[in-house]
Amino acid sequence: MSYDKNNIFAKILRGEIPCKKVYENDYVLSFHDINPQKKIHVLVIPKGEYKNLDDFTANASDKEIVEFNKAITHVSNLVGAKESGYRALTNLGIDGGQEVPHLHFHIFAGEKIGKMVN
Ligand code: AMP
Repeated sequence: MSYDKNNIFAKILRGEIPCKKVYENDYVLSFHDINPQKKIHVLVIPKGEYKNLDDFTANASDKEIVEFNKAITHVSNLVGAKESGYRALTNLGIDGGQEVPHLHFHIFAGEKIGKMVN
């Protein structure tokens, strides 16, 4: 399945719908999740058109991959999770429960995150 240019994060990247921005550079955008599951819940997405982590790993440049990984650490620091920690996760596909078909990592922080999975 090809990348869906009308997914909600593609629209955010094009500025067609707003987001509560946390951080942006040439490679990534980070913003608050619209339906936070923890005290701090932000998303980090690449600016390139990648459906999920597998697509990103297979097709992104080394620079994009490095910048994306650095951004997760940078954003976790920006939201105040440097000392107390955080959980970063990505969902992939049907079994993973991915809803938006543009790669995104969730960063949960600000309180104990709890069980790894339900
Ligand atoms: P996932 O199930 O991993 O695909 O997660 C998608 C996430 O995107 C969910 O946590 C949603 O709350 C979040 N989300 C959906 N639409 C928006 C939006 N317009 N702005 C910010 N977060 C959103």
